[in-house]
Amino acid sequence: MTMHFGEAQASVAALPVPSRLDAYLAQTAFDRPTLVIDVDRVEQQFLALKAGLGEADIHYAVKANPAREVIARLVELGSHFDAASRGEIELCLSLGARPEAISFGNTIKRASDIAFAYAAGITLFAADAEEELEKIAHHAPGAQVYIRIIVENSEADWPLSRKFGCDRDTAMVLLAHAKMLGLDPVGLSFHVGSQTRKAEMWGATLDQMARIWTDARERGHDLRLLNIGGGFPAFYGEAIQAPTDYAAGVMRMVHARFGAVERIMAEPGRGLVAEAGAIACEVMLVSRKSTRDTHRWVYLDIGKFSGLAETIDEAIRYQFETPRDGDATGPCILAGPSCDSADVLYEKRPMPMPLSLRAGDRVVIRNAGAYTSSYSSVGFNGFPPLDVVVI
Ligand SMILES: *Cc1c(COP(=O)(O)O)cnc(C)c1O
Repeated sequence: MTMHFGEAQASVAALPVPSRLDAYLAQTAFDRPTLVIDVDRVEQQFLALKAGLGEADIHYAVKANPAREVIARLVELGSHFDAASRGEIELCLSLGARPEAISFGNTIKRASDIAFAYAAGITLFAADAEEELEKIAHHAPGAQVYIRIIVENSEADWPLSRKFGCDRDTAMVLLAHAKMLGLDPVGLSFHVGSQTRKAEMWGATLDQMARIWTDARERGHDLRLLNIGGGFPAFYGEAIQAPTDYAAGVMRMVHARFGAVERIMAEPGRGLVAEAGAIACEVMLVSRKSTRDTHRWVYLDIGKFSGLAETIDEAIRYQFETPRDGDATGPCILAGPSCDSADVLYEKRPMPMPLSLRAGDRVVIRNAGAYTSSYSSVGFNGFPPLDVVVI
């Protein structure tokens, strides 16, 4: 009986039905690099993360992929949003998000954007500096603020480093300062670092945050909101935990350290949209610089300035598919098409590609729905920005 069941499963796995995304890619010709997003996959991922996050609210980090259809679907699903600017706030509002469901999470806000947000009904703001609190108190009097804490030891593939957050002592000063300014300092936030592949990698950061949380409460701050930020991973070839397990694992670790918290919010960006998208692009040229070179240069029609900015420092290593997969491979340096010498994608760790690869071949970049279209320049060197099609 068990044997029979196993065989049936194996035969299902051997004949995979092409996904909507694959079917669309197979039947469509593109004349420029194009990101195809399957909005049903975004929904699936939202529900999978939500199942693990439990009572925590999802505030989608809009910057990961601001396609209108993505935002609209997430509004339908009851998602909340983390916006970084007036433009992102207007986008969410125009697609039906309620202002109470939008947090203004950038710690570096234009004063007029704060005023705009407040007038639109947004009442939750991030800060990591005195001057930012003063701007908020002036343009959004009485608003709720959470203080962003700097993460000391990220294990992420794309750490957010020292640009955001403040240390424990500064956080204590800011909580008191916010109160003095008539604001409501409701809680703390952090970001564990983008593409943190396993829930267990959150341990050290959560320990650090829990100590600060406890200290603040002991000083009489009535903290009610814990914002655990983003960091939820996408599959780029290295093992990651499945979304529900991952999110549930993080929440177990949060509960073990923080006990009952009135309100928890999570801000997935990459983890919600990356796997819902694939980029169709093309080989422009395959060459060798010298007859003695052991590796080839493969130039694509997409590069650092047209969607693949996260290859900076070779941090994010995408997966490439070609129609010649299965042929013998050799190491390649992958580069973009622009006349800028920084536009090299992978050189320190060359990428194995089929030896038969030719100019004109289609290349599909998997799981590229996050931080690609939103990172594409408007047309550096005359190359068009990454096109987006939502199916
Ligand atoms: C970019 C960003 C996120 C999303 O991060 P991911 O690693 O993509 O999930 C979440 N919160 C804030 C404040 C951000 O700036």
